[in-house]
Amino acid sequence: MTPFNYERASDISEAVGKPQFIAGGTNLLDLMKLGVETPDRITDITRLDMKNIEDHEGGLRIGALVSNSDLAADMRVRQTYPVLSRALLSGASGQLRNMATTGGNLLQRTRCYYFQDKSSPCNKREPGSGCSAIGGVTRLHAILGASEHCIATHPSDMAVAMQALDALVEVEGKDGSRRIALSDFYRLPEDRPDRETVLEYGELITAVVLPPAPTGKQTYRKVRDRASYAFALVSVAGIVSMQDGKIAQVALAFGGVAPRPWRDLEFEAALVGRAPTRETFDAATDILLRDASGQGGNDFKIPLLRRTLRAVLTELCEE
Ligand code: SF4
Repeated sequence: MTPFNYERASDISEAVGKPQFIAGGTNLLDLMKLGVETPDRITDITRLDMKNIEDHEGGLRIGALVSNSDLAADMRVRQTYPVLSRALLSGASGQLRNMATTGGNLLQRTRCYYFQDKSSPCNKREPGSGCSAIGGVTRLHAILGASEHCIATHPSDMAVAMQALDALVEVEGKDGSRRIALSDFYRLPEDRPDRETVLEYGELITAVVLPPAPTGKQTYRKVRDRASYAFALVSVAGIVSMQDGKIAQVALAFGGVAPRPWRDLEFEAALVGRAPTRETFDAATDILLRDASGQGGNDFKIPLLRRTLRAVLTELCEE
Protein backbone atom coordinates (compact mmCIF):
# COMPACT_ATOMS: atom_id res chain seq x y z
CA MET A 1 0.00 0.00 0.00
CA THR A 2 1.28 3.48 -0.85
CA PRO A 3 1.99 5.59 2.28
CA PHE A 4 -0.60 8.23 3.13
CA ASN A 5 -1.35 10.82 5.79
CA TYR A 6 -4.22 10.11 8.16
CA GLU A 7 -6.30 12.69 10.04
CA ARG A 8 -9.52 12.55 11.99
CA ALA A 9 -12.21 15.23 11.62
CA SER A 10 -14.07 16.28 14.76
CA ASP A 11 -16.96 18.07 13.05
CA ILE A 12 -18.55 18.39 9.63
CA SER A 13 -17.08 21.82 8.86
CA GLU A 14 -13.59 20.48 9.54
CA ALA A 15 -14.15 17.57 7.14
CA VAL A 16 -15.66 19.51 4.25
CA GLY A 17 -13.17 20.36 1.51
CA LYS A 18 -10.91 17.39 2.20
CA PRO A 19 -9.97 15.26 -0.81
CA GLN A 20 -10.68 11.75 0.49
CA PHE A 21 -12.96 10.66 3.32
CA ILE A 22 -12.96 7.29 5.03
CA ALA A 23 -15.70 5.81 7.22
CA GLY A 24 -16.28 2.02 7.14
CA GLY A 25 -13.50 1.64 4.57
CA THR A 26 -14.98 -1.59 3.21
CA ASN A 27 -14.33 -0.59 -0.39
CA LEU A 28 -11.64 2.10 -0.12
CA LEU A 29 -9.16 -0.04 1.82
CA ASP A 30 -9.48 -2.89 -0.70
CA LEU A 31 -8.78 -0.46 -3.53
CA MET A 32 -5.82 1.05 -1.67
CA LYS A 33 -4.34 -2.41 -1.15
CA LEU A 34 -4.75 -3.11 -4.85
CA GLY A 35 -3.09 0.19 -5.72
CA VAL A 36 -6.21 1.36 -7.56
CA GLU A 37 -6.72 4.21 -5.07
CA THR A 38 -3.58 6.01 -3.91
CA PRO A 39 -4.70 9.00 -1.80
CA ASP A 40 -1.97 11.18 -0.25
CA ARG A 41 -4.24 11.97 2.65
CA ILE A 42 -7.39 10.45 4.09
CA THR A 43 -9.78 12.08 6.54
CA ASP A 44 -11.53 9.81 9.01
CA ILE A 45 -15.13 10.98 9.44
CA THR A 46 -16.33 8.25 11.81
CA ARG A 47 -16.63 10.64 14.78
CA LEU A 48 -18.98 13.05 13.02
CA ASP A 49 -22.54 13.41 14.21
CA MET A 50 -24.20 11.58 11.30
CA LYS A 51 -25.28 8.30 12.92
CA ASN A 52 -29.01 8.87 13.55
CA ILE A 53 -32.17 7.83 11.73
CA GLU A 54 -34.76 10.54 12.37
CA ASP A 55 -38.41 11.00 11.48
CA HIS A 56 -38.34 13.81 8.94
CA GLU A 57 -41.04 15.54 6.85
CA GLY A 58 -43.23 12.45 7.01
CA GLY A 59 -40.36 10.21 5.97
CA LEU A 60 -36.90 9.47 7.33
CA ARG A 61 -33.57 11.25 7.42
CA ILE A 62 -30.77 8.70 7.52
CA GLY A 63 -27.37 9.94 8.69
CA ALA A 64 -24.54 9.14 6.31
CA LEU A 65 -22.72 7.12 8.98
CA VAL A 66 -25.66 4.83 9.80
CA SER A 67 -24.38 1.33 9.15
CA ASN A 68 -26.05 -0.88 6.58
CA SER A 69 -26.90 -3.33 9.41
CA ASP A 70 -28.54 -0.70 11.60
CA LEU A 71 -30.51 0.70 8.67
CA ALA A 72 -31.77 -2.73 7.62
CA ALA A 73 -32.81 -3.52 11.20
CA ASP A 74 -34.56 -0.23 11.98
CA MET A 75 -38.21 -1.02 12.66
CA ARG A 76 -39.46 2.00 10.68
CA VAL A 77 -37.46 0.86 7.66
CA ARG A 78 -38.57 -2.77 8.01
CA GLN A 79 -42.24 -1.85 8.31
CA THR A 80 -42.52 1.17 6.02
CA TYR A 81 -39.70 0.75 3.50
CA PRO A 82 -39.26 -3.05 3.30
CA VAL A 83 -37.79 -2.74 -0.20
CA LEU A 84 -34.83 -0.94 1.36
CA SER A 85 -34.39 -3.38 4.23
CA ARG A 86 -34.46 -6.33 1.81
CA ALA A 87 -32.00 -4.70 -0.56
CA LEU A 88 -29.57 -4.01 2.27
CA LEU A 89 -29.77 -7.57 3.59
CA SER A 90 -29.13 -8.96 0.12
CA GLY A 91 -25.80 -7.12 -0.09
CA ALA A 92 -22.34 -8.20 1.10
CA SER A 93 -21.97 -10.20 4.34
CA GLY A 94 -23.03 -9.56 7.93
CA GLN A 95 -19.52 -8.40 8.87
CA LEU A 96 -19.35 -5.98 5.95
CA ARG A 97 -22.83 -4.61 6.62
CA ASN A 98 -21.75 -3.85 10.20
CA MET A 99 -18.93 -1.66 8.90
CA ALA A 100 -20.36 -0.23 5.66
CA THR A 101 -22.13 3.13 5.94
CA THR A 102 -25.04 4.68 4.08
CA GLY A 103 -22.89 7.38 2.47
CA GLY A 104 -20.11 4.96 1.62
CA ASN A 105 -22.52 2.49 0.06
CA LEU A 106 -23.68 5.18 -2.38
CA LEU A 107 -20.06 5.92 -3.34
CA GLN A 108 -18.72 2.38 -3.68
CA ARG A 109 -16.88 1.72 -6.92
CA THR A 110 -17.66 -0.76 -9.65
CA ARG A 111 -16.47 -4.35 -9.27
CA CYS A 112 -15.43 -4.53 -12.94
CA TYR A 113 -12.53 -7.02 -12.89
CA TYR A 114 -10.35 -4.80 -15.08
CA PHE A 115 -10.92 -1.71 -12.95
CA GLN A 116 -9.49 -3.61 -9.99
CA ASP A 117 -6.51 -4.94 -11.97
CA LYS A 118 -3.91 -2.23 -12.36
CA SER A 119 -2.22 -4.07 -15.22
CA SER A 120 -5.34 -3.69 -17.44
CA PRO A 121 -6.17 -0.50 -19.34
CA CYS A 122 -9.27 1.12 -17.85
CA ASN A 123 -10.79 4.49 -18.71
CA LYS A 124 -12.38 4.77 -15.29
CA ARG A 125 -9.06 4.33 -13.48
CA GLU A 126 -6.93 6.10 -16.08
CA PRO A 127 -8.92 8.25 -18.53
CA GLY A 128 -7.92 7.69 -22.16
CA SER A 129 -6.19 4.34 -21.55
CA GLY A 130 -8.98 2.22 -23.06
CA CYS A 131 -11.58 -0.24 -21.79
CA SER A 132 -10.37 -3.82 -21.29
CA ALA A 133 -13.88 -5.09 -20.63
CA ILE A 134 -15.01 -4.43 -24.19
CA GLY A 135 -14.03 -7.63 -25.94
CA GLY A 136 -13.16 -9.20 -22.57
CA VAL A 137 -15.09 -10.96 -19.81
CA THR A 138 -18.38 -9.14 -19.38
CA ARG A 139 -20.61 -11.31 -17.20
CA LEU A 140 -21.11 -8.48 -14.66
CA HIS A 141 -21.33 -5.65 -17.17
CA ALA A 142 -24.01 -3.24 -18.34
CA ILE A 143 -26.75 -3.71 -20.93
CA LEU A 144 -28.21 -0.21 -20.43
CA GLY A 145 -26.61 3.24 -20.19
CA ALA A 146 -23.08 2.14 -21.13
CA SER A 147 -20.79 3.95 -23.57
CA GLU A 148 -17.96 2.99 -25.89
CA HIS A 149 -15.64 4.16 -23.11
CA CYS A 150 -17.03 2.14 -20.19
CA ILE A 151 -19.57 -0.65 -19.69
CA ALA A 152 -19.25 -1.08 -15.92
CA THR A 153 -22.22 -1.53 -13.60
CA HIS A 154 -22.88 0.16 -10.29
CA PRO A 155 -22.63 -2.48 -7.53
CA SER A 156 -24.98 -1.13 -4.83
CA ASP A 157 -28.24 -2.84 -3.87
CA MET A 158 -29.16 -0.13 -1.36
CA ALA A 159 -29.01 2.60 -4.00
CA VAL A 160 -31.40 0.67 -6.26
CA ALA A 161 -34.04 0.56 -3.52
CA MET A 162 -33.44 4.22 -2.71
CA GLN A 163 -33.90 5.07 -6.38
CA ALA A 164 -37.34 3.41 -6.36
CA LEU A 165 -38.14 5.37 -3.18
CA ASP A 166 -37.20 8.75 -4.74
CA ALA A 167 -34.51 9.38 -2.13
CA LEU A 168 -32.61 12.66 -1.84
CA VAL A 169 -28.92 12.91 -0.99
CA GLU A 170 -27.93 15.70 1.41
CA VAL A 171 -24.42 17.02 0.94
CA GLU A 172 -22.33 19.68 2.65
CA GLY A 173 -19.76 21.67 0.72
CA LYS A 174 -17.72 24.85 1.01
CA ASP A 175 -20.74 26.84 -0.21
CA GLY A 176 -23.23 25.26 2.20
CA SER A 177 -25.58 22.32 1.98
CA ARG A 178 -27.73 21.08 -0.88
CA ARG A 179 -30.05 18.19 -1.65
CA ILE A 180 -29.66 16.15 -4.82
CA ALA A 181 -32.32 13.74 -6.09
CA LEU A 182 -30.72 10.30 -6.28
CA SER A 183 -31.93 10.14 -9.87
CA ASP A 184 -29.57 13.07 -10.61
CA PHE A 185 -26.73 11.97 -8.34
CA TYR A 186 -24.94 9.52 -10.65
CA ARG A 187 -23.51 10.43 -14.06
CA LEU A 188 -23.58 8.14 -17.04
CA PRO A 189 -20.07 7.23 -18.23
CA GLU A 190 -20.22 8.82 -21.71
CA ASP A 191 -16.62 9.87 -22.44
CA ARG A 192 -15.67 10.47 -18.77
CA PRO A 193 -16.31 7.25 -16.85
CA ASP A 194 -13.96 8.44 -14.09
CA ARG A 195 -16.57 11.04 -13.10
CA GLU A 196 -19.24 8.97 -11.41
CA THR A 197 -21.35 11.46 -9.46
CA VAL A 198 -22.25 15.15 -9.47
CA LEU A 199 -20.43 15.72 -6.17
CA GLU A 200 -18.01 18.64 -6.23
CA TYR A 201 -14.49 18.38 -4.83
CA GLY A 202 -14.58 18.13 -1.04
CA GLU A 203 -18.36 17.76 -0.73
CA LEU A 204 -19.41 15.40 2.03
CA ILE A 205 -22.59 13.29 2.02
CA THR A 206 -24.27 13.99 5.36
CA ALA A 207 -27.60 12.14 5.01
CA VAL A 208 -30.13 10.47 2.75
CA VAL A 209 -33.73 11.65 2.98
CA LEU A 210 -36.58 9.26 2.20
CA PRO A 211 -39.93 10.86 1.31
CA PRO A 212 -43.09 9.54 3.00
CA ALA A 213 -43.52 5.85 2.28
CA PRO A 214 -45.45 5.07 -0.91
CA THR A 215 -48.62 3.06 -0.76
CA GLY A 216 -48.70 -0.46 -2.13
CA LYS A 217 -46.57 -3.56 -1.96
CA GLN A 218 -42.79 -3.48 -2.03
CA THR A 219 -40.13 -6.04 -2.77
CA TYR A 220 -36.48 -6.40 -3.78
CA ARG A 221 -35.46 -9.36 -5.90
CA LYS A 222 -31.80 -10.04 -6.65
CA VAL A 223 -30.52 -12.62 -9.11
CA ARG A 224 -26.86 -13.56 -8.61
CA ASP A 225 -24.39 -16.36 -9.13
CA ARG A 226 -24.63 -17.69 -5.55
CA ALA A 227 -27.07 -17.30 -2.69
CA SER A 228 -25.06 -14.77 -0.67
CA TYR A 229 -22.08 -12.47 -0.88
CA ALA A 230 -22.37 -11.86 -4.61
CA PHE A 231 -23.17 -8.82 -6.72
CA ALA A 232 -26.39 -8.67 -8.71
CA LEU A 233 -26.55 -9.95 -12.24
CA VAL A 234 -30.01 -8.40 -12.30
CA SER A 235 -31.98 -6.89 -9.43
CA VAL A 236 -35.38 -5.24 -9.24
CA ALA A 237 -36.67 -2.88 -6.54
CA GLY A 238 -40.42 -2.66 -6.98
CA ILE A 239 -43.32 -0.74 -5.44
CA VAL A 240 -46.80 -1.23 -6.90
CA SER A 241 -50.26 -0.17 -5.78
CA MET A 242 -53.45 -1.51 -7.33
CA GLN A 243 -56.93 -0.02 -7.65
CA ASP A 244 -60.02 -1.72 -9.09
CA GLY A 245 -57.97 -4.47 -10.67
CA LYS A 246 -55.62 -2.06 -12.44
CA ILE A 247 -52.12 -0.84 -11.72
CA ALA A 248 -52.49 2.55 -10.03
CA GLN A 249 -48.89 3.50 -9.20
CA VAL A 250 -45.51 1.94 -9.82
CA ALA A 251 -41.89 2.67 -9.03
CA LEU A 252 -39.35 0.20 -10.39
CA ALA A 253 -35.57 0.48 -10.28
CA PHE A 254 -32.99 -1.97 -11.57
CA GLY A 255 -29.52 -2.98 -10.45
CA GLY A 256 -26.72 -4.99 -12.06
CA VAL A 257 -27.62 -3.77 -15.53
CA ALA A 258 -26.36 -0.18 -15.82
CA PRO A 259 -23.67 2.22 -14.62
CA ARG A 260 -26.14 3.62 -12.10
CA PRO A 261 -29.37 2.43 -10.48
CA TRP A 262 -31.65 2.39 -13.51
CA ARG A 263 -35.13 3.85 -13.66
CA ASP A 264 -37.26 4.56 -16.73
CA LEU A 265 -40.38 6.69 -16.25
CA GLU A 266 -41.68 5.98 -19.76
CA PHE A 267 -41.63 2.27 -18.98
CA GLU A 268 -43.47 2.88 -15.69
CA ALA A 269 -46.11 5.00 -17.46
CA ALA A 270 -46.80 2.08 -19.80
CA LEU A 271 -47.92 0.02 -16.78
CA VAL A 272 -50.16 2.56 -15.06
CA GLY A 273 -53.90 2.19 -15.64
CA ARG A 274 -53.51 -1.27 -17.16
CA ALA A 275 -54.65 -4.66 -16.03
CA PRO A 276 -51.73 -6.72 -14.69
CA THR A 277 -51.52 -9.20 -17.55
CA ARG A 278 -48.51 -10.81 -19.16
CA GLU A 279 -49.21 -8.75 -22.29
CA THR A 280 -49.08 -5.52 -20.25
CA PHE A 281 -45.82 -6.52 -18.58
CA ASP A 282 -44.18 -7.59 -21.84
CA ALA A 283 -45.22 -4.47 -23.76
CA ALA A 284 -43.88 -2.22 -21.00
CA THR A 285 -40.66 -4.25 -20.77
CA ASP A 286 -40.15 -3.76 -24.51
CA ILE A 287 -39.94 -0.02 -23.73
CA LEU A 288 -37.52 -0.60 -20.85
CA LEU A 289 -35.25 -2.72 -23.04
CA ARG A 290 -35.54 -0.68 -26.25
CA ASP A 291 -31.88 0.39 -26.10
CA ALA A 292 -30.49 -2.65 -24.30
CA SER A 293 -27.46 -4.32 -25.81
CA GLY A 294 -24.98 -6.90 -24.59
CA GLN A 295 -21.30 -7.53 -25.17
CA GLY A 296 -21.56 -11.29 -25.64
CA GLY A 297 -20.78 -12.45 -22.12
CA ASN A 298 -23.65 -10.46 -20.65
CA ASP A 299 -26.27 -10.98 -23.40
CA PHE A 300 -28.13 -13.29 -21.02
CA LYS A 301 -29.06 -10.31 -18.85
CA ILE A 302 -31.61 -9.07 -21.38
CA PRO A 303 -33.94 -12.10 -21.15
CA LEU A 304 -33.05 -12.49 -17.46
CA LEU A 305 -34.21 -8.95 -16.73
CA ARG A 306 -37.44 -9.59 -18.64
CA ARG A 307 -38.20 -12.75 -16.68
CA THR A 308 -37.21 -11.31 -13.30
CA LEU A 309 -39.36 -8.24 -13.88
CA ARG A 310 -42.33 -10.37 -14.92
CA ALA A 311 -42.01 -12.39 -11.68
CA VAL A 312 -41.74 -9.24 -9.55
CA LEU A 313 -44.74 -7.60 -11.20
CA THR A 314 -46.81 -10.76 -10.87
CA GLU A 315 -46.02 -10.87 -7.15
CA LEU A 316 -46.66 -7.17 -6.52
CA CYS A 317 -49.89 -6.96 -8.52
CA GLU A 318 -51.61 -9.77 -6.61
CA GLU A 319 -54.42 -8.15 -4.64
FE1 SF4 B 1 -12.67 0.29 -16.81
FE2 SF4 B 1 -15.26 0.71 -17.24
FE3 SF4 B 1 -13.87 -0.64 -19.00
FE4 SF4 B 1 -14.33 -1.74 -16.60
S1 SF4 B 1 -15.86 -1.26 -18.13
S2 SF4 B 1 -12.38 -1.71 -17.76
S3 SF4 B 1 -14.35 0.10 -15.34
S4 SF4 B 1 -13.56 1.50 -18.46
